[in-house]
Amino acid sequence: MKGICVLGATGSIGISTLDVVGRHPDRYRVVALTAHRDADRLAEQCRRHRPALAVLADAAAAPRLRALLADMDQPPEILAGPAALAQVAALPEVDIVMAAIVGAAGLLPTLAAARAGKRLLLANKEALVIAGEILMSAAAASGALLLPIDSEHNAIFQCMPPGYERGLERVGVERILLTASGGPFRDRPLADLAQVTPDQACAHPNWSMGRKISVDSATMMNKGLELIEACWLFGTRPERIQIVIHPQSVIHSLVQYVDGSVLAQLGNPDMRTPIAHALAWPERLSSGVSPLDLFAVGRLDFSPPGYDRFPCLSLAIQAAAAGGTAPTILNAANEVAVAAFLGGRIGFTAIADLVAETLARLPAGPVPPEGMDTLLATDREARALAEQLLPAPVP
Ligand code: NAD
Ligand code: MG
Repeated sequence: MKGICVLGATGSIGISTLDVVGRHPDRYRVVALTAHRDADRLAEQCRRHRPALAVLADAAAAPRLRALLADMDQPPEILAGPAALAQVAALPEVDIVMAAIVGAAGLLPTLAAARAGKRLLLANKEALVIAGEILMSAAAASGALLLPIDSEHNAIFQCMPPGYERGLERVGVERILLTASGGPFRDRPLADLAQVTPDQACAHPNWSMGRKISVDSATMMNKGLELIEACWLFGTRPERIQIVIHPQSVIHSLVQYVDGSVLAQLGNPDMRTPIAHALAWPERLSSGVSPLDLFAVGRLDFSPPGYDRFPCLSLAIQAAAAGGTAPTILNAANEVAVAAFLGGRIGFTAIADLVAETLARLPAGPVPPEGMDTLLATDREARALAEQLLPAPVP
């Protein structure tokens, strides 16, 4: 029996994780569940999965959770506040941590799991974008097994040969082909993009996801963040990664070898596949995902991305190449911009403008070896600047 902690249990990835875990009660025991402030959903999950601990990052929501669970014979211990997230991720009875908080809020609890040597299932790509070096070396130092949940990175991991951690060149890998659906606006006339609504941006053609990553998919910032994520996970450079538009989202990414072989991982677009893969690796586990029907898929298409349509993609590639604190600034500005777009304060095309302006005004610097404080300060500074650059809220 493995003990599991789900950070971000009430979100899209958290719910899929509990679905897979719930199919295998003989293998997994839920030790801790966390959420931001959705006490109602967390209470339902506590009744179903009976964790020992439940955490709400927003302490104001904790009394409601307590009230909702008051009639349980063995209610979970309820903790509140951001520090409790890191605390439960490092508990000795936790073997596996699913890092599925969205955005920079997930960084410190994810890092705590890495430092504590857990099997770390990483969905929270922003953590790697902000602090890739620190997170990777924390995992290496503690022996934490870091397994990617992002479908592309999970696919790449499945296509990598043994020993790839020692360097891709040494194992004959020439490059990584990172697939992207192109999101809901892949074919929309460019002139229409300024007017699209949050609901249109969140209507992804193939995947059902949280609103932040859905907007990132529509701007393709998501693919830019994923490129940075892939550089850290697979020890490579942006030049070794080719982004391929593949609208069907059936191939989840590919690895090209020096002998001309290209390995791909395919499957229906359902996050329960990478989740089950990472939970059980190197074993395999049923996930509830229906088998891929190639006759129903019929065809697979590929094309290069249009960088004029997706300026966020170019910004992310530039930040990846610049290194240092540039990806931290990129991510912080993007989080502010996406929240402003979802809140109706700016238009869709203003997301890229705000990220570009923040990067232009805030010079990126190097990250010292133990540079978490530098990164957190940069994150705060970039957020403050991006907020300042936003139009005043409508009263
Ligand atoms: P979501 O918005 O559906 O869920 C986010 C979860 O994080 C919720 O449980 C929420 O309560 C929690 N949370 C939000 N803000 C928080 C805060 N300040 N403090 C503590 N907890 C907080 O998001 P999602 O779609 O599940 O995505 C989660 C992560 O996984 C993101 O980093 C995303 O990029 C990544 N990811 C998601 C998918 C997907 O299919 N949804 C695919 C690949 C990667
Ligand atoms: Mg992805």
